[in-house]
Amino acid sequence: MAANKKLLILPGDGIGPEVMAEVGRVIDWFGSTRALRFEVEEDLVGGAAIDAHGVPVTDATVAKAMAADAVLLGAVGGPKWDDLPFECKPERGLLRLRKDMALYANLRPAICFAALVSASTLKPEVVAGLDIMIVRELTGGVYFGTPRGIETLPDGTRRAINTQVYTTPEIRRVARVAFELARKRRGKVCSVEKANVMESGVLWREEVQALHDAEYPDVALSHMYADNCAMQLVRNPKQFDVIVTDNLFGDLLSDEAAMLTGSLGMLPSASLGDADETGRRRALYEPVHGSAPDIAGQGIANPIACVLSFAMMLRYSLDLGAEADLVENAVRAVLDAGVRTADLAAPGEKTVSTREMGDALLAELDRQVRA
Ligand code: NAD
Repeated sequence: MAANKKLLILPGDGIGPEVMAEVGRVIDWFGSTRALRFEVEEDLVGGAAIDAHGVPVTDATVAKAMAADAVLLGAVGGPKWDDLPFECKPERGLLRLRKDMALYANLRPAICFAALVSASTLKPEVVAGLDIMIVRELTGGVYFGTPRGIETLPDGTRRAINTQVYTTPEIRRVARVAFELARKRRGKVCSVEKANVMESGVLWREEVQALHDAEYPDVALSHMYADNCAMQLVRNPKQFDVIVTDNLFGDLLSDEAAMLTGSLGMLPSASLGDADETGRRRALYEPVHGSAPDIAGQGIANPIACVLSFAMMLRYSLDLGAEADLVENAVRAVLDAGVRTADLAAPGEKTVSTREMGDALLAELDRQVRA
């Protein structure tokens, strides 16, 4: 099976290259075992790009990202570049990619693997079997709205302004992503805003409802205020399937949901843009964690978040759902077998290195295709 898909891999900084190396082995496994070949190109982003080119991402790399079927990024940043001016920092490379690729929908799954139930701070019965998807609007709302700024008033006191602003197309395109996802999952969308106190919330609710009624009546739609959603996520998270919300509430709620599941080293994400005329949708996949300078270079980082980001890429950009299942099932089986990197291990439990976790995943993939 030749996929003929162009992947751009951007390992980045710190543990980024370490965890990406294990994804590289999974890609090679698909090539040799399943004859599934991708056109893979690797490039620099973040501090690595600053060191080589003086900028956190070059125009040429951005052009490659725009032309790729999907981009997989490791992590950016680290103490070496902390003193650079804001505009030159490694993180600007990632922000530029998100902006230039117009990635407006951020997908953050929160899945609680059975073997890691005890790693959650919540009771096992609350999180066991948890599988929710938070869709956060990523390019609009209060983080980008104008007017914004801090001004000094005539009496010498100061005033700060940010503007929460959304338009019909901005709301509808992200809601569409949520409805489409729900159709492939358990068929439920919960739309979250503060329509009780914010006009932008009123518009959000009306537009999501109108799109639902016109095009997605088969999906069960509910609405919830963001403060209630924050409570429900810790009270009874399994009531949710897909949650769709704006940039600010999504920022908070996706971190809250992520922590239901235990370690940062387990959390993948996807950011999606619009589909072009051929149906190809711009997309960037990345683990939620950063470059973890405290453990970089030690070979002990957990590669699972990056591997699961690759699985999301298989599912959402390459339409290879069965292959994504293979990878996700391998992760589940390896965890069930008690294989743990240091971030997942209970005190006194035996731990494996990044490479050994990769070995265990590949062995499990082999086992699955033989079964
Ligand atoms: P971080 O996510 O890098 O690390 C937080 C903690 O989690 C650390 O103790 C780290 O060791 C641990 N951790 C993270 N990923 C892990 C993994 N895969 N396996 C095992 N342990 C893991 O966040 P931070 O320390 O706040 O930030 C470090 C650097 O990363 C900063 O420069 C920050 O700006 C950058 N950052 C980048 C991204 C990104 O690239 N998307 C995201 C967040 C932070």
